Amino acid sequence: MASFDVIVIGAGPGGYVCAIHCAQLGLKVGVVEGRDTLGGTCLNVGCIPSKALLNSTHHLHEVHENFEKMGLMGANPTVDWSKMQAYKQDVVDGNTKGIEFLFKKNKVTWLKGWGSIPEAGKVKVGDEIHEAKNIVIATGSVPASLKGVEVDEKTVVTSTGALALEKIPESMVVIGAGVIGLEMGSVYSRLGAKVTVVEYLDKILPGIDGDTVKTFHKILSKQGLEFVMGAAVQGTEVKDGKATVTYKLNKDGSEASITADTVLVATGRKPYTEGLGLEALGVEMLPRGMVKVDDHFQTAAKGIYAIGDAIPGPMLAHKAEDEGMAVAEILAGKHGHVNYGVIPGVVYTTPEVASVGQTEEMLKEEGRAYKVGKFPFMGNARAKAVFQAEGFVKILADKETDRILGCHIIGPGAGDLIHEVCVAMEFGASAQDLALTCHAHPTYSEAVREAALACGDGAIHA
Ligand SMILES: Cc1cc2nc3c(=O)[nH]c(=O)nc-3n(C[C@H](O)[C@H](O)[C@H](O)COP(=O)(O)OP(=O)(O)OC[C@H]3O[C@@H](n4cnc5c(N)ncnc54)[C@H](O)[C@@H]3O)c2cc1C
Repeated sequence: MASFDVIVIGAGPGGYVCAIHCAQLGLKVGVVEGRDTLGGTCLNVGCIPSKALLNSTHHLHEVHENFEKMGLMGANPTVDWSKMQAYKQDVVDGNTKGIEFLFKKNKVTWLKGWGSIPEAGKVKVGDEIHEAKNIVIATGSVPASLKGVEVDEKTVVTSTGALALEKIPESMVVIGAGVIGLEMGSVYSRLGAKVTVVEYLDKILPGIDGDTVKTFHKILSKQGLEFVMGAAVQGTEVKDGKATVTYKLNKDGSEASITADTVLVATGRKPYTEGLGLEALGVEMLPRGMVKVDDHFQTAAKGIYAIGDAIPGPMLAHKAEDEGMAVAEILAGKHGHVNYGVIPGVVYTTPEVASVGQTEEMLKEEGRAYKVGKFPFMGNARAKAVFQAEGFVKILADKETDRILGCHIIGPGAGDLIHEVCVAMEFGASAQDLALTCHAHPTYSEAVREAALACGDGAIHA
C-alpha cells in the first residue's frame, strides 16, 4: 500500500496532464491505468492513429489529384497496407512511450491495473489498496452502441476496429456523419473504398456553423463520399463476410438497405465509469454514466473530482487536458479555471474544418445583434497555390462593440489558423484588433485578417 496526495484514475489526456501538473506543483501523485500503454483513447485508438492514417492518405490524394498539375510526373505509388499500419503504430508507440518518459521525469507513479474506489480516500488496484487525499476520475469514454447493430470489430466495427482493419475494404458504410465518421470515411475513400455515410439528421457535423457545413458537404461529395441523409438505421446483418445496413428515411418512412464489406458505427461515445463504485460513494450521476461535477470539478462526494470525457462538455482531448490542468491547480490550492467559450474544434480532413465560439445559428437563437466578416480562400494566394481555395474564414463579431464572438474556417491549415482567433477571444479582442495586426505574406493566416477586415470597412482581396 502506498499513500498519495492525489490518485488519478485513467491516463488519457485528462488524467496524464492532471498528474504531471500535480507533480509540477509539488504533490505526490499516482496514476491508475489498466491499458498496457499510457495516453488513453486519444494516443492509442483516437486522435493520434487517426491523424497518422489521415496524413498518409492525404499525401496519396495529393499524388493522384495535384502532382501532375505541379509538374511532378512519374509512376503512381501503390499502397502497402501493412506498412501504413506499421507507420501508424510507430507514431502511437512514440507518443505513448513519451508519456511514460514524462511520468518518470516528473516522478509520477504508474499504478498498473484497473482501479475502483472501495471507500472515500482509497483506491483499489488489483489486490492492493492505496490511500489518497484526493481522487480524480479521468476514465474517459467508449464508443456508444446502436440498437440493432452488433459490433464484431471485423465486419461491423467501431473507430477502434476501423483503425486496424485487416485489409482495405472495397466498400464501407459509415453510420453517423460526425467528426470521427467523416475522418475515417475520408481515409478509406482516399484508399479507394466506395464510402457511403448514413446520417439520421439532415446536416453533417451537427453543432457546427451551417454555412461551413454546407460547403464541407459539397467538397466531401466531390471527393467521392456518398451521403444518405435523414435516415434512421434500423439494424445490420452480417452474411458471408459482408454487412447489410437497413435504414428508414425520416421524410416518408420508406426502408432501404446498403451492403458493404465494412460498416463503421460512428454514432458517438459514452462515458466509461462502470465498475468504479461511484454511486455507493454518493457521487451524483447524470444519464449515460456521466459524472456530475460542480464549477471546481468536484463530484457530490468530497475529495473525488472528475474531468474529461467522463463529465459533460465536448468530448475532446484538449478540453480534457485543460480540465486536468485546472484540477491540479485547485488541488494545489490555486485557482484552476476552464473557459468553455473558447474551446476550438477541428476536423482533420482535407480541407480542414475548424471552429471556436458561437455559430450564426446560436447568435440568432440568442437574438444577439452580430455582423459577419467572411473571406474566401479564393482570394488567398497561398491557398490557390496548393489547390485548396474552396473554403473560407468567417468571423462573427458583436454588431456594436466589434468583439469577436466566433470563428469558422474551412480551408488549408484551418486547425492551426483557428488559434490566433482563440487567443484574440481570450483577450476579449475586437475584429479590428485582428485586422490591424500585421500578417506575413503569403500565408493562409492572411485570410483570417481579411475576414476581420470584412467585419469593418471590407476585405482587400475579395
Ligand atoms: C477515432 C477517434 C479520434 C479522435 N480524434 C480526436 C482529435 O483529433 N482531437 C480531439 O481533441 N479528440 C479526439 N478524439 C477524442 C479524444 O480521444 C477524447 O476526447 C480524449 O481521449 C478524452 O480524454 P480522457 O482523458 O477524458 O479519456 P481517455 O482518453 O478515454 O482515457 C481514459 C483512460 O482511462 C483508462 N481507464 C478507464 N477506466 C479505468 C479504470 N477503472 N482503471 C484504470 N484505468 C481506467 C482507460 O483505459 C483509458 O486509457 C478522438 C476519439 C476517437 C475515438
